[in-house]
Amino acid sequence: MKFDLHCHSTFSDGELPPQALLALAKERDITHLALTDHDTVDGLAIAQQAAAQHDISLIPGVELSATWRGQLLHIVGLGIDPKNKVLAAGLKRNRNSRLDRAAKMLEDFREHGIELEKAIERVLGDAIPTRPHFAQALINEGVVKDKRQAFKRYLVRGKPGYIALQWPSIDEIAAWVNAAGGVAVLAHPLRYKLTRTKLITLVKEMKACGIDGMEVSTPVNDAQQIAMLANIASQQDLYASVGSDFHSMDQQWARLGSATSLPDHLNPVWQSPAVKL
Ligand code: AMP
Ligand code: MN
Ligand code: MN
Ligand code: MN
Repeated sequence: MKFDLHCHSTFSDGELPPQALLALAKERDITHLALTDHDTVDGLAIAQQAAAQHDISLIPGVELSATWRGQLLHIVGLGIDPKNKVLAAGLKRNRNSRLDRAAKMLEDFREHGIELEKAIERVLGDAIPTRPHFAQALINEGVVKDKRQAFKRYLVRGKPGYIALQWPSIDEIAAWVNAAGGVAVLAHPLRYKLTRTKLITLVKEMKACGIDGMEVSTPVNDAQQIAMLANIASQQDLYASVGSDFHSMDQQWARLGSATSLPDHLNPVWQSPAVKL
């Protein structure tokens, strides 16, 4: 069995539509894939059909943004019922926040002499607006040469196009995921650059609100970092997950299926009641 429980499609900021994503998963010998688009479950139905064709088990997922002590966190929900009403209402709230932020970002770019309205419309199609879409629009307009530059000169705190967003609390996010029968997992725990002590504080607080898992194996972390995360997961009795956070073919550091398998002594998230194998 080979798992990848964190990736994106064109329904959020991924490059591949669900069909192509599942074909790639087959190529990479993945047996269990979770599609986890940002704040939307709209790609899951098509992904499910494609998964059946390729004989891959699709675990329905979503990646939600949350705010904890002023820090942006990402929480992955796995094994969710995409039709659940509580979750749907939460997703709608986050999507509305995104639409509202996108309008303010356009306005901020305009104030800095950069007109992106047409470009962003073309980039978005039906996708939910994310900062990578704005990065692509900046590239298409010749304002920057690549995404790296876009996230250096624009879109981040203190730079044009950055609009702070107050995402829901971790309690709220946990409640949505749990209402939908899923298990909530802290995504890419080392991305937030917390000290080990603060990470443990976060883990304890999030567990108290019903976030029961943490990604331990991700391709961007080395063996020592993975061992450190494994240690926290086992000490704090968290389910451990595996995810590449694949977005596009040009991100060599996050290839689909490239996260190593979990250390043996951990409780894999696919043993949780929410993710029935
Ligand atoms: P958003 O949720 O719309 O604020 O966008 C966050 C997404 O932007 C993340 O999920 C990443 O895919 C992407 N992202 C954030 N920072 C960077 C960066 N420095 N370079 C490239 N992509 C980034
Ligand atoms: Mn993303
Ligand atoms: Mn993320
Ligand atoms: Mn992600």
